[in-house]
Amino acid sequence: MRVLISGASVAGPVLAYWLTRHGFTVTVVERAPALRKAGGHAVDLFRPAMDIVEKMGLIEPVQAAATGTEWLAFRSENGERSYELGMARLTRAISDRHVEIMRDDLAEILHRATRDDAEYLFDDSITALAEDPDGVDVTFERGPARRFDLVIGADGLHSTVRRLVFGPEERFSTWIGGYLAVMSIPNYLGLRDRMEGITGVNRMAAVYGAARLDEARAVFLFRPETELDYHHRDVDRQKELLRRHFAGMGWQVPRLLGEELERASAFYFDSITQLRMDTWSRGRVSLVGDAGYCPGPAVGGGTSLAVVGAYVLAGELAEARGDHTRAFTAYEQQIGDYVRRSRTFAVATAKRLIPGSRLELWALIQGARLINNAPASLARALTGLNGKGMRLHDEVTLKAYPHETHRAAAPGADQRRGITDRPQAVD
Ligand SMILES: Cc1cc2nc3c(=O)[nH]c(=O)nc-3n(C[C@H](O)[C@H](O)[C@H](O)COP(=O)(O)OP(=O)(O)OC[C@H]3O[C@@H](n4cnc5c(N)ncnc54)[C@H](O)[C@@H]3O)c2cc1C
Repeated sequence: MRVLISGASVAGPVLAYWLTRHGFTVTVVERAPALRKAGGHAVDLFRPAMDIVEKMGLIEPVQAAATGTEWLAFRSENGERSYELGMARLTRAISDRHVEIMRDDLAEILHRATRDDAEYLFDDSITALAEDPDGVDVTFERGPARRFDLVIGADGLHSTVRRLVFGPEERFSTWIGGYLAVMSIPNYLGLRDRMEGITGVNRMAAVYGAARLDEARAVFLFRPETELDYHHRDVDRQKELLRRHFAGMGWQVPRLLGEELERASAFYFDSITQLRMDTWSRGRVSLVGDAGYCPGPAVGGGTSLAVVGAYVLAGELAEARGDHTRAFTAYEQQIGDYVRRSRTFAVATAKRLIPGSRLELWALIQGARLINNAPASLARALTGLNGKGMRLHDEVTLKAYPHETHRAAAPGADQRRGITDRPQAVD
């Protein structure tokens, strides 16, 4: 059975790994001309994603590529308070098993683990999908048209597959009250194992380095009163908005938004948007990761959700012996609760990370102190984190799927590759 996956970041390669393992023939199309090597931003793998990474035999390279961030040091904008928080204590409040890794490092590890078994097409994108009862005809921007049995969109928050099948993004995206900007800058603060920053009412700025990264990242989170008006390609306007919302903030902010912003090697600006779809499958097409259920960039643990979603989708397709109707329904049922809880978590986190008043700012700092100084269980209880579903990742139970399955029944039997063809075993 031939499956086309759009997107080669996190969800796409994890799905490719498990599908090929279950005997499907997989093609991955990625819009970027090559694998990104710039680092991207730091992402989190919490317990269920770590367990899946382990099943894939990738725990060692993933741990070796960890960012190594150990400390978060913040000051309040009015200079009255500062706090330093052990990263391990913070993440233990959320999950017992965790690695922070740069997204591009993770994508590279996943690509390496799948490139021999899946076909990768870089520098291309799907432009049209025409489904009939037996398959999907796919048109590409550059390559020749091809036919597949299933198409899966793993192409992120601004997914093309979702737009082609379900309609415009605005129909499903909800602004959850903030904006996020990230830029790559020289590591002039010499940060290796620390994130340092400043937090005020409705805005916070921080800089972090990472063990394997020459540059540093500057991150800005802010909440204006109303949604901003800008075009997603108008970088000058985005920079102007950023400068306006951080005007008058001290610490490193004048330098970051002055000379560093002018010469930043990479700049990202987006609203903190959550996708809310009741169903993310239609006909022979489904969505995985941010494309289907982005809880909000930087606030909702989207990377772990993407890994779990990809693992479950592949497993359900294998268990249903390629019957996509059964598999897609089971996939959505399996991860529905995790998706909904991630949404709730993301809204609460966005609110907590960008305090809306001096009182919330004070609560953020007190919460950080508690996590740092109290025993982990007490800290969780005191800060009310348990009540807010903070342990949502660790509460996910992964279903075990058979590794060795049938050859999925579909046209093109000569192109199929069974699990028995694969040389390596991961367990
Ligand atoms: C600034 C920022 C900070 C973040 N911080 C965190 C964090 O701290 N912790 C955390 O867990 N998560 C974080 N996230 C979220 C995390 O990056 C995502 O949840 C995760 O990467 C989702 O993986 P994905 O594979 O579903 O999508 P993505 O990683 O977005 O990958 C989508 C892929 O599809 C490709 N693509 C896009 N369009 C097309 C097309 N038309 N055709 C082919 N390919 C296409 C893209 O090039 C990309 O390779 C952050 C996100 C951002 C933007």
